[in-house]
Amino acid sequence: MPHVLCLTRYVHVPYRRSLTPTRRTVLARDGHRCAYCAGPADTVDHVHPRSRGGTHSWTNVVAACSRCNHRKADRLLAEIGWQLLVTPAHPRGPVAVLGAAVRPHPSWMAYLAA
Ligand SMILES: [Zn+2]
Repeated sequence: MPHVLCLTRYVHVPYRRSLTPTRRTVLARDGHRCAYCAGPADTVDHVHPRSRGGTHSWTNVVAACSRCNHRKADRLLAEIGWQLLVTPAHPRGPVAVLGAAVRPHPSWMAYLAA
């Protein structure tokens, strides 16, 4: 069975589903790496804590390991002198197209570039 198909006519997608930041999609966007220490991440952290007015949006959520998430708690980065290793943004590439439910086949990557 082929991994890639070439369509002979354009298929119009009537709407684009908006991708919601969930634990799965945030971890997939960030490659399961902690935004604070680059270790394996298993939680989602709100950079600007929701308890202090932060939003649940792509630009305010990052993947974090349990240790960093617990240490940061509801504090702002400036308060504890931490910096993000990545800048959170709306996902691009395979995660934006497929979400986190589908693991892209390596042969798809040329078509799902960021
Ligand atoms: Zn960490």
